[in-house]
Amino acid sequence: MALVGDGVGAAVLLDALSVGAAAPPGRITVVGPGVRRWRGLAFGADAVASLTNIGAAAMSVRPGDPGHYLRWAEATGTAGTAFPHRAVFGRYLEHTAGEAAARLRRRGCRVDVLTGRVTRVRRTPDGVDTRWEPLPGTAGAAVRRLESAAAVLCCGASEPADPYGLARSDGRVLAPYPLEELVAAVPPGARVAVAGTGLTAVDVACALADAGRCREITLVSRRGLLPSVRPAGPPHPVRHFTLDRIRTEGGLGGLLALLGAELAAEGLSFADLRVEWGGSESAADRLRRQLDDGGTAARALRVLRHAVGGTGAEAAGLLGLADRRRLDGRTGRKLRSLLFPMPAHTAVRVRELFDREVLRVVAGRIERGGGRGGAAFRVLPDAPGVGAVREADLVVNAVLRPSDEHLTEAEGVPPDSREGPVARMVREGHARAHPLGGVEADPLTGLLTGADGAGAPVHALGTLTQGVNAFACGLPWLARHSTRIAAALSAPG
Ligand SMILES: Cc1cc2nc3c(=O)[nH]c(=O)nc-3n(C[C@H](O)[C@H](O)[C@H](O)COP(=O)(O)OP(=O)(O)OC[C@H]3O[C@@H](n4cnc5c(N)ncnc54)[C@H](O)[C@@H]3O)c2cc1C
Repeated sequence: MALVGDGVGAAVLLDALSVGAAAPPGRITVVGPGVRRWRGLAFGADAVASLTNIGAAAMSVRPGDPGHYLRWAEATGTAGTAFPHRAVFGRYLEHTAGEAAARLRRRGCRVDVLTGRVTRVRRTPDGVDTRWEPLPGTAGAAVRRLESAAAVLCCGASEPADPYGLARSDGRVLAPYPLEELVAAVPPGARVAVAGTGLTAVDVACALADAGRCREITLVSRRGLLPSVRPAGPPHPVRHFTLDRIRTEGGLGGLLALLGAELAAEGLSFADLRVEWGGSESAADRLRRQLDDGGTAARALRVLRHAVGGTGAEAAGLLGLADRRRLDGRTGRKLRSLLFPMPAHTAVRVRELFDREVLRVVAGRIERGGGRGGAAFRVLPDAPGVGAVREADLVVNAVLRPSDEHLTEAEGVPPDSREGPVARMVREGHARAHPLGGVEADPLTGLLTGADGAGAPVHALGTLTQGVNAFACGLPWLARHSTRIAAALSAPG
C-alpha cells in the first residue's frame, strides 16, 4: 500500500491500520517531504503558543478509544489543559505514528517512510503506479517508481489560496506557518493586513500581537466574520442526528428536521439562534456578546455543534450537489463560523486586542498600492461608511486554498514550477475533481469515484475530500474517516 503524504492523515491512518482486526497489508510505503512529518500544518513544533481548537477529550486518534490522547498526555506529563498545545499534540501524533509502525512490523508488515515528493499516481491493470522523487538538493534525485495494490492520498491542502490576487506583490507572506518565522519577518511597528478571518487568521493575529511588533492588525474577508466563541457546558448527547437517521431522512430538509429534533430534546428551537443571524453587529460586539452570554443562543449552539461535530461531514457527503452548494454559499459560511468556534480562552485574547484597538476586522478587500501614506497595501471596506480605508505595510495570507485547485505541492517546492500529483490524476483521468473542491470520493470510505472506474483502489483522506464532506475538518472526523478507510482496504476482495 502506498500512502501519499506524511502529515496528520497519514499518522492517523497508520494507527488505524495497525489496530484493525484484519491482518495489515504486507507492506506500507509512506512518501512525503518530511518537513512536518506526522504533524502537518497545524501541529508543528513551532506552534508553542497556540492551543488546539478542539478540547483534549475529543482529540484521540481512535474513535473507539476516546481516552487515547488523554492517557498519552498523563504519561508524558503534558496533561492539565482542557485544550492541548498544538506543538504538544504534534508530539502525540509523532509518537502515535512511531508506535503504529512498530506494531505493524510486529504483525509482519514492512513499513518504509521515504522522504520525497510524489509526482504522479496512476491506476494500472495490476495495481497503482506511484512516481516520486527525492527533494531537490538531495543525492540521487531521479524519479523513482513504487508499485502497490492500493494507495491512499493524504497530501492535504498545503498550498495557500490567494484570494486578492496579490501573489507577486512584495511585502506579502503567502503561508503564515511556522508562526515563529512569520513573527520574525514582520518589521517593528508594521501595519499588517491579514487575508482571512477564520481560525488561522485568529492564530496569526494572536501570534503577532503576542510578539508586540505590530502597530495595528486588520483581518479582512468578504463577510468579516470571525469564528464564534465556543459555548461552555457539558456535551449534548446526540439522539436524532445519527448516520442511520440521516440516511433515511435524506436531503437538506431532512437534516434540518433532525437538528430541530436535537434542539427540541433540550427545550430549544432554531428561533433561539435568531440573535446569531442578525447582520448588523460588528465582529467585536458579536465576540463580546458571545463571551458574556450563557443564555439560550449559547445552549442552542452547543447542541448543534455536538450534533454536527459527530457526523456532520458524513451527513453532508450524503447530500445531493444542489444541497451541498447551498451549504457552500453564504449561509454555509455563517454556519461554519458558528459550528467551528474558537475556544473561549482564545476569544478572551481577541477581546483584549479589540479593547486595546490593536485589532480590527473588516468586511472588504485588500488592494495593492497604498494611499497618501505610501504604504504597500490598502484595505477597502465593502460598504461605504462602514469604516475608513486603512493602509498596510504587509499582508499575511491566512486562507488555505479553497480546494478545486489546491491539489497540492509539497512544502519546500516552488509553487509555480510543478503540478501536484492529484491535479495530474484528474488531468489523466484517474480521478475526478469535485465541483466544490478536492476530488470525487465515496463520502464514507474516501474511495475515488467518477473517474475511469477500473483499477486498483485509491482512497482520498483528509482535506482532499472537503468538496464531498462539507464540515470535514478536525481530528475527530479524520479519525473516523481513517478507520473506515483501513476497514475498506482490509476487506476481502
Ligand atoms: C492552522 C490549522 C489549525 C488547525 N487546528 C486544528 C485543531 O486545533 N484541532 C483539530 O482537530 N484540527 C485542526 N486543524 C485541522 C487538521 O489539521 C487537519 O484536519 C489535518 O491536518 C488534515 O490532515 P491532512 O493529512 O489532510 O493534511 P496535512 O496534515 O496538511 O498533511 C498533508 C501532507 O502531505 C504532504 N504532501 C503534500 N504534497 C505532497 C506530494 N506531492 N508528495 C508527498 N507529500 C505531499 C504535505 O507536506 C503534508 O505533510 C487545523 C488545521 C490548520 C491548517
